[in-house]
Amino acid sequence: MKELINKYDFKFKKKFGQNFLKDNNILNNIVSKSEVDKDTLVIEIGVGAASLTTLLGVQAKNVLAYEIDEELKPIITEAISNQNNIEVKYIDFLKSNVLEDIKKYDYKKLYVVANLPYYITTPIIEKIIGDKIPVDKIVIMVQKEVGDRFNAKVGSKEYNSLTIFLNYYFEISKLMNVSRNSFVPAPNVDSVVIQMEKRKNKYSVDNEELFFNLIRDSFRYKRKNLKNNLKGYDLEKIKEVLNQYNLDLNVRAEELTIDMFIKMSNILN
Ligand code: SAH
Repeated sequence: MKELINKYDFKFKKKFGQNFLKDNNILNNIVSKSEVDKDTLVIEIGVGAASLTTLLGVQAKNVLAYEIDEELKPIITEAISNQNNIEVKYIDFLKSNVLEDIKKYDYKKLYVVANLPYYITTPIIEKIIGDKIPVDKIVIMVQKEVGDRFNAKVGSKEYNSLTIFLNYYFEISKLMNVSRNSFVPAPNVDSVVIQMEKRKNKYSVDNEELFFNLIRDSFRYKRKNLKNNLKGYDLEKIKEVLNQYNLDLNVRAEELTIDMFIKMSNILN
């Protein structure tokens, strides 16, 4: 990677969140722990100098990768020159039509595996969910503080509406910690690799829109309790559910599990 970056005199761009992974152990670990195989189509977001891309190409059936920075094209083209199962699209992932792009591929499993551009971590995940991209598993490198929120325990300060939103769709676990020194240039945050597997037993929410609104509103003002955050809701019904858990309306959202929110939303529906 270093050679290619020097050869093409590439200048890293902060605005695109360009911190390339240089640690081969970490790269190999991401690929092996993601369990990509010859039935898998992998979507990668942010190719960089293709360090992860080329490894994924060896294990996967196909890799469909997105890179916003066209200046990386000569580096990437050279790096993947002998791997014809890798396709790179030079486009902003957030503006791409992934459902259209994956149509021509034949695969049994669809994974996202990526060392993400951190400045758009949440929009990327929201796009994957919002566009209904049929992923079976997501393995992503994110900033440590963000990863801690994804799999935060109820009652902890990292636990918020995003935690519940993601846990509704996925079973989430941390695969590894990654030091800032594993990247060039080194970012000023540490990282974690997070795995999100599509839930096999989906939660039974009667009205998803109501459920998501309820969660968002419950966490609206961090210091406020449910009684204050949920003024527009039928508080008697919510109290009924809370009482089943020996709680009342003075509780704060971060004390409530996903099951409690589901019960509240179903009774309100
Ligand atoms: N996967 C590589 C690069 C990680 S850095 C590695 O691990 O070494 C993040 C990469 O995402 C950069 O190459 C950056 O140019 C790219 N990127 C940033 N914003 C993007 C976007 N909106 N769509 C696609 N790629 C993007």
